[in-house]
Amino acid sequence: MPIATRAFAATSAEAPLTPYAFTRRDPLPDDVAIDIHFAGICHSDLHMVHNDMGGTRYPLVPGHEIAGLVTAVGANVTRFKVGDRVGVGCMVDSCRTCAPCRAGDEQYCVPGMTGTYGAKDKHAELSGEAITQGGYADKIVVDQAFVVRIPDSLPLDAAAPLLCAGITTYSPLRHWKIGPGSRVAVVGLGGLGHMAVKQAAAMGAEVTVLSTSDRKKADAERMGAKHFLINSDKAAMKAAAESFDLIINTVSATHEIAGHLQLLAHDGTMVMLGLTTEGLPIFAMPLLWRRRSVAGSLIGGIRETQEMLDFCAEHGIASDIEVIAPDQINEAYARLEKSDVRYRFVIDMSKLDHVA
Ligand SMILES: [Zn+2]
Ligand SMILES: [Zn+2]
Repeated sequence: MPIATRAFAATSAEAPLTPYAFTRRDPLPDDVAIDIHFAGICHSDLHMVHNDMGGTRYPLVPGHEIAGLVTAVGANVTRFKVGDRVGVGCMVDSCRTCAPCRAGDEQYCVPGMTGTYGAKDKHAELSGEAITQGGYADKIVVDQAFVVRIPDSLPLDAAAPLLCAGITTYSPLRHWKIGPGSRVAVVGLGGLGHMAVKQAAAMGAEVTVLSTSDRKKADAERMGAKHFLINSDKAAMKAAAESFDLIINTVSATHEIAGHLQLLAHDGTMVMLGLTTEGLPIFAMPLLWRRRSVAGSLIGGIRETQEMLDFCAEHGIASDIEVIAPDQINEAYARLEKSDVRYRFVIDMSKLDHVA
């Protein structure tokens, strides 16, 4: 029997999200059925809902920062049992045979990973939905290979944003081997940036936050930043030239890139995490002069996501959140458009009873 599920969905690029009822597939032998307790709101949810990249199909239930409890498992499931605290991030499947998949980088799956929402549902005949539907819902059914364990010491609400924001920042910090002595700059103290600061500091790096104003200076310091730079302060930017090994750029705006490249030390890398559809104004001179690189990074693999959750638990790191009820999603979207959140909205799905 397909599982009756309640959710909030977008029905078009313009309409507000509204209650939506649908069904999840009955768990297959490798599936884990999860009661969703909390779902984070990621900026890419807004992009998908508003069809900014094109190709969005409706109705669409967004949400890929999912935390909850296991309610049932299929016959082949050995890693999870009923009652386990689990999370689901941005992917629910991949080809599992290509080189990136075999290397544990399912996010770079060559034929393409299956997104948690808005992707073609491989099990459409069982769920009744043409596309995968995400976490703004009370239930989800996911193959065990794409489910991770949330350590007991992490609260489920503040852990939810780790499933996208947390892994998006952790993966490049690990890839570029950040550790004691590393000098890391984080551009933009938002949902991604605040995770980057906490994780880089916990890895032993000296962390600087670059922001457009000093409004978040105290927060940055509380999260572990040693220094705070204002982008528009030309003297301070000049003084910081050639001083960072890694710049984590979480901002989608493109105009400041050239100035930021000057901040990189010899062999330094600026990694772009923000989803931007515009071109980047990149000039060869600042790159070749210090053998600098500009790179991109997309979330992280499943094994690495588990490692990130364990790292965050060990270091007492979670997201700074504002918990909202499902009927406040549209209001939260409007605030997120203005970057008015400290630092992640998380929807309390138990409140769905009252509104859907
Ligand atoms: Zn996301
Ligand atoms: Zn693959």
